[in-house]
Amino acid sequence: PGKKVLIVYAHQEPKSFNGSLLKIAVEELTKQGCSVTVSDLYAMQFEPRATRNDIVGHLHNPEAFNYAVETWEAYKRGGLSKDLVEEQKKVQEADLLIFQFPLFWFSMPAILKGWMDRVLVQGFAYDLTKANGGGLLQGKLCLFSFTTGGSKEKYAIRGDIRYLLWPMQHGIMHFCGVKVLEPHICYAPEHVSEEKRKEMLTAWTQRLKTLWKEEPIDCSPDWYFK
Ligand code: FAD
Ligand code: ZN
Repeated sequence: PGKKVLIVYAHQEPKSFNGSLLKIAVEELTKQGCSVTVSDLYAMQFEPRATRNDIVGHLHNPEAFNYAVETWEAYKRGGLSKDLVEEQKKVQEADLLIFQFPLFWFSMPAILKGWMDRVLVQGFAYDLTKANGGGLLQGKLCLFSFTTGGSKEKYAIRGDIRYLLWPMQHGIMHFCGVKVLEPHICYAPEHVSEEKRKEMLTAWTQRLKTLWKEEPIDCSPDWYFK
């Protein structure tokens, strides 16, 4: 109770299976006494492109645009665009970040990737000039909750699921200092029976009930590639 959760949600349709997973998470976590914020990226028409529009006012180097440098400089002087500042505030306040999305091409939908690209700027999410690896979002947890088109059996064959989690969980979140909980994967909701779908939704509710007792994974290459 009292924990703050930010759910970054990337599905266009509230009636989708992802929409149902989102609804469950909001209801269950609220019931536990958590305060839950949702960034519904499509509904917000969130801008996924990393452009110079993200910097308000003068550029550090107007001669040659460098997104990483310009956003870092803008962050330091409070010159990032309003939508980014709002998302950063939500991240800053959160104890837990849940990413809810359908798998697109072994990764996250572009709108969510754009959220990562634009919100997690140097100075806010990481600092490469620091010795300790540089992650600035210490003390936070994250959880990747997603659905697939492919069946669990297909994904089990070569262990692809963990390979594709490496860029998201390790490359982004661990890099920023966030501890990673076990992912939550609902396989092929479009292709299973209604009964199985209900089971998957119940399993998500059940998991959320004991979520705060979970230990983060050991987010090192072994977890992904062994
Ligand atoms: P939906 O189609 O919304 O839901 C499935 C069914 O569940 C629907 O019949 C819906 O009515 C029903 N439902 C919703 N709520 C409930 C409820 N409360 N109770 C019971 N039933 C309910 N898949 C891969 O595996 N790998 C890929 O690389 C990949 N790349 C993709 C790239 C693109 C561009 C696209 C568009 C898809 C890709 N997919 C891939 C498939 C994609 O991951 C799946 O289509 C998606 O995960 C399904 O989730 P959904 O929420 O959209 O399902
Ligand atoms: Zn890691």
